[in-house]
Amino acid sequence: MTYQEEREQICQVGKLLYDRGYAAANDGNISVKVAPDRLLMTPSGVSKGRMTPDILLVTDLEGQVIEGDRHPSSEGKMHLAVYRGRPDAGAVVHAHPPVSTAFAVCRRGLETPYLAELAAGLGQVPCTPSFAMLSTDEVPDSVAPYLPDHNALLLANHGALAWGGDLWEAFDRLETVEHTAKIVFCAERMGGAVPLTEQEVSRLQGLRGMYRMLREKLR
Ligand code: 13P
Ligand code: ZN
Repeated sequence: MTYQEEREQICQVGKLLYDRGYAAANDGNISVKVAPDRLLMTPSGVSKGRMTPDILLVTDLEGQVIEGDRHPSSEGKMHLAVYRGRPDAGAVVHAHPPVSTAFAVCRRGLETPYLAELAAGLGQVPCTPSFAMLSTDEVPDSVAPYLPDHNALLLANHGALAWGGDLWEAFDRLETVEHTAKIVFCAERMGGAVPLTEQEVSRLQGLRGMYRMLREKLR
């Protein structure tokens, strides 16, 4: 079987999505760019918590199946759109985490600068303005405008989407989206939530380079 290590990592992330309650039943899908014109993609209609490496599909960047005998994810076109719009993306993760999906139902992005970590890291997470019919071109069309300037999105009345340089970065971003949604939900219910000032946000954004450097291994 090709790309054994990446297949195992996708199963591990799928189980995390399921165990953390981000994906019930067959919700969600995952893809990883394993070569310039090759993706590993989850099949449609399976629990992401019970996948085995052999059920994953290899496709090209047009979505044609190269290896595997199942149907690729019904949202495969959405993944292809992310790789087209973000040549730096190495992985895409989509799920229906309950609190961020509730924001998506209210058509509310996570854009108010409440959290220092978000300003210094992931940045704003907008919500697409209207519902895009599942599995159709409406979904990739709805995400395309947000790709250049964001790293995660809420899909109106549907769920959350994140991408990253590799699968762990994409998963971490999705996890940050849900964590942020929980905090914003609690803070607003408590009353008196105070956003950061513009100046604080711009200073926090200035720290991004430092954090990137700190993440790098010492030689
Ligand atoms: P698939 O099982 O086809 O990937 O669909 C899951 C999903 O979340 C649809 O939006
Ligand atoms: Zn979905």
